[in-house]
Amino acid sequence: MNTQRMPQRGSSGFSRGGSSRPTRARTGTSFSIAPPSGAGHFRSSGPSRGGSSFSRGGSFSRGSFRGGSAKPFNPKRGFKSDRLDVNLFINKAIVATETEAYVPKHTFADFAIHPELAKNLIKKNYQNPSPIQDQAIPVVIEGKDVIGIASTGTGKTAAFLIPLINKLVNDKSHSVMVLAPTRELAQQIEVEFKSFTQGMKLYSVSCVGGSPIGKQIRELDMGVHIIIGTPGRVKDLINRGKINMSAYGSIVLDEADRMLDMGFVDDMRFILGKMPKVRQGLFFSATFSADIKRLCTEFLNNPVSITIPSRDTSANVEQDVVRFRAVSEKIELLHDLLNQPNAKKVLIFRETKRSVDQLAKELQDRGFKALGLHGDMRNRERARAIESLATDRAQIVIATDVAARGIDIADISHVINYDIPSTYDTYVHRIGRTGRSNKQGLAFTFVPHR
Ligand code: AMP
Repeated sequence: MNTQRMPQRGSSGFSRGGSSRPTRARTGTSFSIAPPSGAGHFRSSGPSRGGSSFSRGGSFSRGSFRGGSAKPFNPKRGFKSDRLDVNLFINKAIVATETEAYVPKHTFADFAIHPELAKNLIKKNYQNPSPIQDQAIPVVIEGKDVIGIASTGTGKTAAFLIPLINKLVNDKSHSVMVLAPTRELAQQIEVEFKSFTQGMKLYSVSCVGGSPIGKQIRELDMGVHIIIGTPGRVKDLINRGKINMSAYGSIVLDEADRMLDMGFVDDMRFILGKMPKVRQGLFFSATFSADIKRLCTEFLNNPVSITIPSRDTSANVEQDVVRFRAVSEKIELLHDLLNQPNAKKVLIFRETKRSVDQLAKELQDRGFKALGLHGDMRNRERARAIESLATDRAQIVIATDVAARGIDIADISHVINYDIPSTYDTYVHRIGRTGRSNKQGLAFTFVPHR
C-alpha cells in the first residue's frame, strides 16, 4: 500500500431484544419437535387437521419424489427439483460424539503468526484450527497456491485470512484481493477481517455492487491493504483506473463455483489477467467442476489441493421433510412449526423474489417477526434483515438462494425449504446456514404428500 491512511471505522454494536410469538387457536394437529439430540423427533398428537400430518423418515417409503424413477444422485451434476429423491432431505444429525473427531496437526501457535493477530484469535475464542485451517494455513504462509475444496461453514474464511493478514502485517506494501459471489459474503469477510486485525492498522474496503461507488473510490484513494469485492464492481473500478491490479500480489476466489454459476467468469478472468505473473492464488470452491479445474490450470502455479469432505458441514444438521396435501395447508404447517419454542432463528428459503415478499407479508399478518431478503432490496434493507435475525429482533428471514448465500449467523435454529431447492448442491448450501461451528441445527423441507 502506498498512499496515506484513513481512520478505522467503528463496528456497529448489536443489541439483544426479546421476541414474542403469535399464538393461534389450535384445532388440528399438534406436534412438537425435539431438540436435535438424535433422541426424539416429530410427535403427532390430537386429531389431524384436514388430513395433514407430519411424517418422519420411518413412516416414509423409499421412492423418488413425484413417483418418477429414482436415478442415482450424481453430486457433480445435481438433480432438477422434480428428480430430487426425498430421501436426500432426511438425515439424522451425526451427534458430535459419533463424529470422527478431526485431530489437528497444528495449534494456532505453531503457525508463528504475528503476536497481535494471535491475540485477536484468542479474543475470538479460536482455540483449535478447523481441518481446512490446519491444512491450508502453513501452505499459504509458505507462499504456495492453493485449491481448497471446502464448503461454507468449514472455517475457510479464516483459512485464507489468517495467513494473508500475517503476510500483510509483515509487508505493508503487499496488497490482497478477495473476490466473493455476493455482497453479503464480501461484507461478511470484511467483518471477519476487521475482527482479526483490531489494532493492527490494516485497512480494507468492500467493493460490492448496489453500494455507492463514490464512497468505495474515496476509500481506495486513501489506500487499503485488502479489497473484498464482487467481480462486477471490482472490474468496474479497474476500468475507472481506481484499482491497479498489477500491485496485487495475492488473490482469493471464495466460492469460485458460485461465481461461475452466477456468470462472473469473464469478470474473473479479466481481473486475474491483470495481475502480475508472480503472485499467490488461493481458489476456494465447494465443488471441483471442469470449469473450476480449467481456471486453476490457467491461473494457478503448482497449487496444493486440499479437500475437506462436505459431510463435515451438514453432519450437525438434523434433516427431515414436512408433508403437505394441499398448497393451502403448507402455511398452516409452517405456522405451527414456527410456533415451536425451539424455532428461535429461522431461515426460510423460497425460489423467487415475489414468493419471498408474499410469504413475509403473510407471516407478518399472522403476527410473526418476519423479514424478506432478496436481490431487489436495497443493500441497507438486506443488511437490516440479516442483522435483525442475528440480534433476535426478527425470528424469521425468508430469502432467495442468491441473497442468502454465505450468510453466517452463528445460531440459526432452523432452515426451512418452503420450496424444494432446484439442485442438491443448493440444498446442501441452504442447510449449511444452520449447524455451524459444531452447533446442532434442524432443516425441514416441504414436500407434497405421495
Ligand atoms: P466460515 O466457514 O469461514 O464461514 O466459518 C464459519 C464459522 O466458524 C464462523 O462463524 C467463524 O467465525 C467460525 N470459526 C472458523 N474457524 C474457527 C475456529 N478455528 N474456532 C472457532 N470458530 C471458528
